[in-house]
Formats: sequence, C-alpha cells, structure tokens
Amino acid sequence: MKQSKMFIPTLREVPSDADSKSHQLLLKAGMIKQVASGVYSYLPIAKRVLNKIESIVREEMEAIDGVEILMPALQPSELWSESGRWQSYGAELMRMTDRHGREFALGPTHEEIITSLVRDELKSYKKLPVTLFQIQNKFRDEKRPRFGLLRGREFIMKDAYSFHATEASLDETYQDMYNAYSKIFSRLNLQFRPVIADSGAIGGSHTHEFMALAEIGEDTICYTDGSDYAANIEKAEVVYHPNKKHTEENVLEKVHTPGVKTAQQLADFLKRDLDEIVKSMIVKVDDQFVMFLIRGHHELNDIKVRSFFGTEHVEMATEDDIRSILDASPGSLGPVGVNKIDIYADNSVQDLNNLAVGANEDDYHYVNANVDRDFNVKAYGDFRFILEGEPAADGSGPVKFAEGIEIGQVFKLGTKYSESMNATFLNDQGRAEPMVMGCYGIGVSRTLSAVIEQHNDDKGIIWPTAITPYEVHIISVNPKQEVQKNLADQLYDAYRTQYEVLYDDRAERAGVKFNDADLIGIPVRVVVGKQAADGIVEVKNRRTGDAVEVHIDNLQETIQSIYASFES
Ligand code: ATP
Ligand code: MG
Repeated sequence: MKQSKMFIPTLREVPSDADSKSHQLLLKAGMIKQVASGVYSYLPIAKRVLNKIESIVREEMEAIDGVEILMPALQPSELWSESGRWQSYGAELMRMTDRHGREFALGPTHEEIITSLVRDELKSYKKLPVTLFQIQNKFRDEKRPRFGLLRGREFIMKDAYSFHATEASLDETYQDMYNAYSKIFSRLNLQFRPVIADSGAIGGSHTHEFMALAEIGEDTICYTDGSDYAANIEKAEVVYHPNKKHTEENVLEKVHTPGVKTAQQLADFLKRDLDEIVKSMIVKVDDQFVMFLIRGHHELNDIKVRSFFGTEHVEMATEDDIRSILDASPGSLGPVGVNKIDIYADNSVQDLNNLAVGANEDDYHYVNANVDRDFNVKAYGDFRFILEGEPAADGSGPVKFAEGIEIGQVFKLGTKYSESMNATFLNDQGRAEPMVMGCYGIGVSRTLSAVIEQHNDDKGIIWPTAITPYEVHIISVNPKQEVQKNLADQLYDAYRTQYEVLYDDRAERAGVKFNDADLIGIPVRVVVGKQAADGIVEVKNRRTGDAVEVHIDNLQETIQSIYASFES
C-alpha cells in the first residue's frame, strides 16, 4: 500500500488526555480517533491489526469446533426480563426505547440472545454439545471509560457460549477453551497469566481470567515462583494457620483517646504495632447491617464478603446508617456491647486477645476487649485481602503481586440462564433437563491495546510479527530524486507479492518519514536513499535498531534473516 494513499494521521505531541502508554501510542501512530468518551473510530493501521487478531482468535475457536455466528447488538428487553437482568444489570446497560415505546438494550454480552436461540433450535441431547461464537461490538456504559481502548463504552469482543447435556461435557469444553486462550495469547506474543477468579455471588461456579502483565493493569495478580498458582487478589484465598498469642485476659478498660480515629493513630497512641489493633466496620449485606472485625494491617475484601453471603449487594454502611444503628461515628466503631447486629471476624483476629477496639464513642477506645466475655462473634472466615509474602492457597509461596489487564475470561455458567430462560433439551430417556452452559470472552480491542502496552519503546510501537499491520516498510528518502523513486517503486512492485508492504512514497521530509515509521513500528524497514544509484539500500530491524546496508540482490535474504531472528 502506498502511504500517499493511506490514512495515518500521526501526531508529533503526546495528547494530554492520553492516560496510558498504549492510549498515547494509538493516538500518536494515527490508529484511533475518539468520537465520544470511550467511543473510538479504528483507522486503517488499527483495523489491519484487529483483522489479524480476529483471524487468530477465529482459527483457535474453530480448532476446538467453535462455530461462528453473528447476533444483533440491539436486544429486546423481554429476553433480559426473562433472565432477570433487565432489573439487576444496572447502569452499565445502554437502554433505549423505539418509536413504539418498546424497550431495548445495546448488548453488553449475549447470554440472553444465545440462550433463546439455542432453546428454540436445539432440543435433543444428540445435538449437544455445541459451541457458538461471534466477534462483535459490545456496549457498556462504563462509569469511568479510560486508557483508550482498554476500557471503552463501545468495544470489540469475541464471545463464545457452549451448551451441554452434562457437567462433564462442560468441563471438557472449558479445558479446551482454556487451552485455546493460552494459544491465542501466546501467538500474540503477550506475557500473560491465567488466574483463578471470582465468579460472582450468583451464577457460575468456576472461572479463570487471562491477564496480560502490565503496570497500568487494574487487577492485581497473586502468584508464586514455586508453582503455577495464580489468582486475582479478589479471590486469592488466605489459608488460616492458627498462631495464637493469647495472654491472660485483662480487665476491660475504657481509655480516653482524644482525636484518635484510625487504626494507625490508635496503634501510635497505645505504642503498639498496627497488626495488634482491631478495626471494626459496618457493612450492608442486602438489607441487613453486619459488623466486620479485621486486624489493623489487613483490608476487608468485599468480594469475599459477597461470596460468603451469596449476594451481589454488599456495600459499606454510610455515616448516617452507622449513626442510626450505633449512635456512633465511623472512626470510633467497636464490637463491645454491640448486640443489635451480627459480628463477623477475619480468621486472623482469633490470634489475638485483649483487643484494642473503638468504643462507639468519639475520643474513646477499649483495651483488653475479649471475645465471648465482652462481645460475640457469629463466625470467623477469610474476609480479607492476602498480603504479599503470605503462603499461597496451594501451599507454595510466598505470594508475589503483579498488575494485570484482563484480556479474557472463561466461565462455567452451569444452569443459571437455562433455568431462568427455560432452555431445556430431551435427554436419552426423553426427559427434559436444563442445558449446562459455559461462556468465554476475549476483549479484542482491549487485547490490541495490551499488545502495545507490552511492545513499545520511546519511539513508538514494536509489533509482534503475527499481527504487524505490514511486514515490510519501504521508505524512499527523497522521491523527487528520479533514481531513488524508481528503485523504491521497483522494490515495492517486487516485494508486495510476497510481503505486506507499506511504501512511504510521500513528498515529506526524511525526518518526518523516519519518525512516523518508528511510531507505526513495522518490524523491517527498507530505506532507499542516496546510494540508490548503486543498488544499495539500508535495512533496519525495528526491534533491535540495527541497520545494515545491503545490495538489492541480497535484500530478500536480509529480510528473511531478520524475520528468522524473531522466531528464535
Ligand atoms: P472488567 O472487569 O475489566 O470490567 P469484565 O470482567 O466485566 O471486565 P467480561 O464480561 O468478562 O468483562 O468481558 C469479556 C472481556 O471483554 C473481558 O475479559 C475484557 O477483555 C473485555 N472487556 C470488558 N469490558 C471492556 C471494556 N469496557 N472495554 C474494552 N474491553 C472490555
Ligand atoms: Mg471478566
């Protein structure tokens, strides 16, 4: 393709609102243009890369017998009411009303549409299992669209859904998907980890997220060097090894603690370590308030609280709630004398006695508070985030933390949708049973960003060969010079039959062309310049920055050897 005919509006300056490396580079390299917050046009270079990512995804889905379909983005509310999600999905669902007053949503995901499709068409166990997938734009009215394509409001997703007669059959497809995802992300040259993830309070039972490692990542991954254990911190289990340091129970004492509001302030005031202080907090679970006790150096993990109570509806109590329940302010809470609400405690609270806690009264705390004597704990559990350095749940350890971008997720849904939407099949006895389902997503546009996040330098993008927009970038330094132009034209004609070639034939300054070439990041660059008359060109490896001068007779093998070096 001739660059004079292309549409690559590169930028010299880093746009000030670009909030991640990939966002900056996508804009600078002229790959995307923002239309509205979280909504982008994909320009030609981006589109070519997306096509290649999609081809890889398609190949690997078809390799495990996935069949491609395309469902509508526009979805009637009736189907969402059947599953119950018209009510429960919340503000992320883009809702609209047609001219007849009927309600629709722009699909954020397609469980409802696919379940209704399959229930109407596949009725016998003989037709199962089946895996259907699509690649399509999804819509989510994200609270904070950011990082360019990483968190958009309209974005490209590959979503697949599998339908089974048995759990065992789902397990097989789940494993196939897991392996296919690993192949896809390996082929994209991404550094990634599959991690154990939270499946939410309702719905599936088993799920993994695929995380691309990147500092900008919004998720924290806990992993160990000693094993392949890796979990999202939301889910990373803390195994409780009792380590009781109990001393004799002392007399409960109320202490005047002027101005002390936080656990750290209390620790300083009492000259104790933070981990010897117990924090109390009040949480609203569905419509009930409960108190949680957590040690000073730990943080409550709301995801674990959700799964303990089996509900999505968990939030911190407001100041007003707290006042109406305990007549206290949030910085002064404690369990002593609390009997209106249940008290739960993290496992590690058991290791202490003679606790220092709030007194539900400003400027006062209790010391020497003891369970059973001064307050009751309804249950202990794993309610906190794991800390770096603690043992991992599989016994390996210590856990380390890394930041990751969720690029895909595989999920065992079970019968959540088939039951609510009545998707049954006839088993071999002729009896109706709900289908067992799985769902599997890859954020295609997010993956494009994640690749750039991992493959760049201060000059621009460095494409992995599998998805580079072009394979060879030919640049004529000065097309006004007949000899240079002729040789560059000749090489373009010769090489475009074997490689995807971008040919910079523009009447621009050499510096502009080189900067653009670095930004766009095509792995091999062939520069036709002053030595054109002698048939000599410069070949540059974008990854290493190495440049060699070669005669055009040797150009082919030079390009090949650079590509061969990328393989190893
Ligand atoms: P997140 O936790 O990041 O909001 P999610 O878990 O809600 O994502 P899924 O429902 O699992 O997302 O969607 C499947 C895939 O779609 C995700 O793994 C991710 O790669 C991608 N994705 C989800 N939301 C967005 C978004 N707003 N912009 C771009 N890609 C997204
Ligand atoms: Mg997800």
